[in-house]
Amino acid sequence: MQKYQLYIDGAWTDPLTGEWIDTANPYTGNTWARIPRAGAADVEAAVEAAHNAFRQGEWPALNATQRGLMLRRFAEVLTDNAERLAEIEVRDNGKLHAEVLNQCRYLAQWFHYYGGLADKIEGSVPPIDKPNVLNLTRYEPLGVCACITPWNSPLLLLAWKAAPALAAGNTIVVKPSEFTSASTLEFAALSEQAGFPKGVINVVTGFGPEAGDSLVRHAKVRKIAFTGGEAGGATVNSSAAPDFKRVTLELGGKSANIVFDDADLDQAVSGAISGIFAASGQSCIAGSRLLLQDSIHDDFLERLVGLAGEARIGDPMSPETQVGPITTEPQYRKILEYIDIAKGEGARLVLGGGSVPAPDGNRGLFVQPTIFADVTRDMRIAQEEVFGPVLAVMRFRNEDEAIAIANDVNYGLAAGVWTESLRRGITVSERLEAGTIWVNTYRSTSYTTPFGGYKASGLGRENGMEAIKEYLQTKSVWYYAGGDVANPYVRR
Ligand code: NAD
Repeated sequence: MQKYQLYIDGAWTDPLTGEWIDTANPYTGNTWARIPRAGAADVEAAVEAAHNAFRQGEWPALNATQRGLMLRRFAEVLTDNAERLAEIEVRDNGKLHAEVLNQCRYLAQWFHYYGGLADKIEGSVPPIDKPNVLNLTRYEPLGVCACITPWNSPLLLLAWKAAPALAAGNTIVVKPSEFTSASTLEFAALSEQAGFPKGVINVVTGFGPEAGDSLVRHAKVRKIAFTGGEAGGATVNSSAAPDFKRVTLELGGKSANIVFDDADLDQAVSGAISGIFAASGQSCIAGSRLLLQDSIHDDFLERLVGLAGEARIGDPMSPETQVGPITTEPQYRKILEYIDIAKGEGARLVLGGGSVPAPDGNRGLFVQPTIFADVTRDMRIAQEEVFGPVLAVMRFRNEDEAIAIANDVNYGLAAGVWTESLRRGITVSERLEAGTIWVNTYRSTSYTTPFGGYKASGLGRENGMEAIKEYLQTKSVWYYAGGDVANPYVRR
């Protein structure tokens, strides 16, 4: 069994707590590695290292171009290691290898993109209303940034944070999920090959309320980028508030996938299926509410149930598998509980509705692809995030009603619209309250375009040009050229 260590100040160390957490393969159910259970003293060492690396030595001495080159070197290293990282991640979170490999090959693009952006962040020269002064603005890094990630896409969601944070000149302390820390520790090991000075990248593993909480509360942490559930996000937000730390939160969703009667129905059926059943629904952008227009409702539902019912459940490493295991036991229990809640609320079960044993004597936890029809707005299955392969189907008469249903949730992460009408695509996407809208597609994201939530789905944005500003602060500098000192309040 593999035993991992913490990565602090460029060195591998055992946790000061002397404790480890077992990490299991969600498909086989076997423990395959042990990861350190870091405590407050470990976090203290990691933040101190990151703080020192930010203040002195090689990292702050690099100019933005040199920093960018280092990120792009790291991109090459990540590309060379994509296959290995993907295998580790599948062993840890049980997602389909095909999907994880694509993600791991894609990771490098964040480091290329933000590496390229590092020396293109320009300040401005505002036209000042006073004589004899020159005023300019510059963007400066914040300091130590905490990157806290969930178990569903550990490395991808780390890249979304680490690449802009480092490109901006910050240092980072990463706290991956206690369920899936191995790939992040491997990522840290690879960062050495890119030449990052010690202390610039640190990883502390452990539980959210222990290592995570110590990190969020540490006085020398200036920014927290968190992806996870609402409860964790709310705690992080309030723990960060007394010190006025910057916070980016990427939280949950209850995204609506809306199919109009003029849609390409073949395309829409496969969009609805990949929207909810990819990653066994363990995805923040899952299209977990399917809104069908009255006139196509029955036909569409029949096709959907037919196709989803054929999905092959099995080993996530096998290219034949379409539905993998549930990553964690608490998540498995939560999904089954929501299935019971939906049944109790009177939703009509049309597919699945329970667990299924793992094939070949493995001990993984599987839930059948599950579809509920006749779901109404007031049901919990229409309002709350399940984070599993459970689809709530609702019907609507017209555009106004579709939009009203879609917006009638606390979340606002994403939505899909299926229509052949350009007018409808434009107007509906404008009226939906969500940070990402897909028209005639679902699930696409890119390093070039902002991603984030409306309402309870989060704060701030990741990806694209605007994300780097989340890791920078603006300084306004005044140069006085001498002569008459103007009354600062009077324009002369
Ligand atoms: P989680 O909130 O339980 O944990 C996320 C991370 O936060 C973990 O590393 C955890 O240890 C840490 N954490 C938990 N409580 C903490 C605290 N009080 N202080 C500091 N750190 C703490 O979430 P999860 O179960 O790992 O992931 C599932 C959730 O993540 C879902 O709700 C899903 O929608 C959300 N998610 C959102 C996005 C997005 O981009 N919006 C992407 C993926 C997942």
